[in-house]
Formats: sequence, structure tokens, C-alpha cells
Amino acid sequence: MAHYGLRQFMSILFAHSFFMHFDEKQKIIKEPHPPLGTIIAAACAREKGYKVSLFDAMLAPDIRAFSKLLSSELIETVVFFEDNFNCQSKMCLGRMREACLTMIEQAVKAGIMVVVVGADASDYPEIYLKAGARYVIKGQALSQLMDLIGYHGLNPEGTFVDHGVYYLEEGQMCGQPPSGSAPQPFPKPAWDLINMNAYGDIWRKQHDYFTLSMVTTRGCPYQCSWCASPLSGKAYQVRDPLETAREMRDLKKRYKPTRIRFADDIFGLEPGWIEKFSLEINRLEAVIPFKIQARADLITPETAKALAAAGCREVWMGVESGSQKILDAMNKKMTVTHIHQAVKHLKDVGIHACFFLQLAYPGETAEDLKATWDLVKKARPYQISLSVAYPQLGTPFHQQVGDIMLEESHWEYGQALKPVFKTTYPAEIYPLLYRYFHQLFWHLNSSPGVGPRRFRAAIHRAATRRRLAAFGIDGIPFN
Ligand code: SF4
Repeated sequence: MAHYGLRQFMSILFAHSFFMHFDEKQKIIKEPHPPLGTIIAAACAREKGYKVSLFDAMLAPDIRAFSKLLSSELIETVVFFEDNFNCQSKMCLGRMREACLTMIEQAVKAGIMVVVVGADASDYPEIYLKAGARYVIKGQALSQLMDLIGYHGLNPEGTFVDHGVYYLEEGQMCGQPPSGSAPQPFPKPAWDLINMNAYGDIWRKQHDYFTLSMVTTRGCPYQCSWCASPLSGKAYQVRDPLETAREMRDLKKRYKPTRIRFADDIFGLEPGWIEKFSLEINRLEAVIPFKIQARADLITPETAKALAAAGCREVWMGVESGSQKILDAMNKKMTVTHIHQAVKHLKDVGIHACFFLQLAYPGETAEDLKATWDLVKKARPYQISLSVAYPQLGTPFHQQVGDIMLEESHWEYGQALKPVFKTTYPAEIYPLLYRYFHQLFWHLNSSPGVGPRRFRAAIHRAATRRRLAAFGIDGIPFN
């Protein structure tokens, strides 16, 4: 039950704990994205009349920047709202948890109420509550957060009780599990809170282009066994195509990004949405080249054509494996034939098809790894991105490997390439396989001949082959 009349705290600092400086991979690739989930939450609170500000950890040098902000501004509540549109945030990285706990302690010391919303806090609420957070809200939490803020405006000393809301009472954690997946507010993100010049400078200096993220949907109705998305329920919420096109036009005018990355789990699942969106952005002259994530089985010739007309340049598909056995074990509900067909439809209209691939899924053998490489060789995607299977708490995959989890069951930073459960082959082989796939892929796409680069690459590839061969596993390495 919401009460928005009298507000005890008018000033809310929204924050998150994904520090680019603490992530080894981000420090190298330098592809920071503003925290979409956090600025959507801030926009919701602002629509209710609260004064909002942002601590954007992504570009902050360290935690001291947060404490400085606390002492310089009059803040009555801090909401750590992790960006669930950043897949790294969903991975609950150890370094970011540590940072968040320190910041919670600092805010509490300053007498400020703290609320936490995020994947790691949903999995381990007690850790955050014991660090001093007044509440942890689990699951799709925006509407509960707005109700909670409203409640405390009238009842500063009271305790807000609702589904998905956790708190401590006499040292014991109390709360009720989230109730299904009610529709969540979906306002235009509070872009004005972002230091866009700083983002633009990093991108342009490192890459010569500037990518911004947008989002048009929430949720996914599929149930892939390793994916955290189905944990928020099967609901799929989609924004109005015209509203999305208007936001793109505004971003284009104001910040001049040269590319857009749509962060949706699955873009344009609703029939006819892409066609409507394409009409609107062409009408508004808002086209910016963009990339999306999609399932291979949803790419028909018609969808591919509509995507091309809307300005799509790249489609990243969660291909995962070239082995049907592994796809079935993941409950992907997709076949290797779907993948080949999708690549063809995309190439026919000039869109780059790109693959997300996963190594080390339980049961994966040398034969399955070879099937994945054979798929890449035959389909010739434009790019590949490899990762090592990572069991996130609450997923069927996590339950499956629960008994064989290793002591170090958490990654400290993204793409650590270290399995956290007992894999078919020794853990040391996976970083090598990662490198080997990339070396083979580079070779596949490099122009024939014997230039010095190809020569050097052949030497590196041979060295990786030797190291892989030293494990004495039949079928590894493969060609
Ligand atoms: S289709 Fe994609 S987002 Fe949906 S459950 Fe599968 S992997 Fe997750």
C-alpha cells in the first residue's frame, strides 16, 4: 500500500557498486555503460516527486568518491540499485560485493537509511543487512521500492512489510519471498544524472566510436537452465515502440552516440514490434546503428529484414554450444539447425551474426567442444564471445552442480575463466581452450598468405596446441 503524501526524506542518492576500476576485464576493454537499471529506478523516484542524485561507481576512481559525496550532500536515503541490464552485475562478483558492503557501512555511519536491490543481495540478503542495510528487496523490485519509500515518508520509525522485502528484527532476518512477477514501472531513464562527457571520452579515445545502452523489454519467457533471467518470473514486459524511438531520437540529439547497444535479453519478441519500431525511428530520423541480443530460433527472414531496415548492424545470439546434447542439457529449446538458418537470414540482409559461446557446461566432452568449433567453422559468425559456464544461485544449473562446487565458488571479477565447480576436464584447460578458440577463429578469418602476422599467430597457436596436448585428452586439441 503506497502513501506519497508526507515525505520524511526527500533526497535519495541512487548508487550501484560496479566499479570499472575493480574489474580486470573492463580495465582492458574499456567499454563502460551507464548503469541503466539504476537510472531507471532514479527516474521512477523523481516521477514521484523525490529529489534524486546518483553515485555512478562505473567511472568512480574508488570508494572514497562515495564517502566524499555523503559528506558534501544532504542525503536522507541511499538506494543501491544494481544494474541488472549489465550481465556482469548479475554475476555477483566478489570485488563488487566487498565495495558495496563498505559503502553501506559508510552511509549507515553517516546516519542514512540504506536499501539494497541487486542480484547478489537477492541471493545473500543477510550479508547486506548485517552490514547495516535497513532493507534488501529481492527480485523485480521497483514497485516495492517506490512503496517502501512512500511508507517511510509517513512512518520513519516503522518497518515496511511486503513480498520480497527483507530486514532484520532482533538480529534475525525477516521477510516474505517475492510474489510472482507483477509488471514494473518502465520510465525513460534519468540520463541527465550521467556524466556523459566522461563516458564519451573513454569510448572515443579507446574505440573511435561511442556506444550507449538502451532497453526496450524486461524479462524472458524461456527457461534456459543456467540463466538468471527466469528467476524474476516468466513475465515479458515491452515498451511502446514510439516511446523507444523518441528516446533514441533524444539521445542522438543530445549525446551523439555513434552506436546503440540494446541490453534486452531478447529484443523484439512481441510479433510486429520490430516493424513498428523501424517505422517510427525512420519517421523521426532517429536511426543510429545498433546491436541486439536475440535467440537464433526467432530470426526469420522477415525479422531479419525488419531489423536491417531499423538500423541493426549486429545480432548477438546465445548460441552456447554446437553440440545438440549440450543445448538440450541447457534446456535451450533450440537446435543447431536454427543457428545455421539464423546466420543465413542475417547475412542475407547484411547484418553481422555473432555468437556467445560457453565452455565447460556439465557433461561437455572433447567431442562436444569439437562440435562447437565445427559450428563456428561452418557458420562463420562475424565475432565470437566465449565464457566459462558460471552457476548463479537459484538456477537449475546451480542446483545441478551444488554437490561439486569448488571452495572458490565466486568470481572476484568478470570473465575469470575459472570454473567454480568440478568440470569434465582439469580447470586449467579452460583458459587455454578459450585462447585456442580465439586463435583458431583469428586464423579462420585472416587473409590467406604467409605475412609476418600470420606467421607469428601460427607460432602462438602451435604453442597453445602443445600445452593442450600435454593434458593427454583424446580429441583435444582439435582443428
Ligand atoms: S533465452 Fe536468453 S535470456 Fe531467456 S532464459 Fe534463455 S539465455 Fe536467458
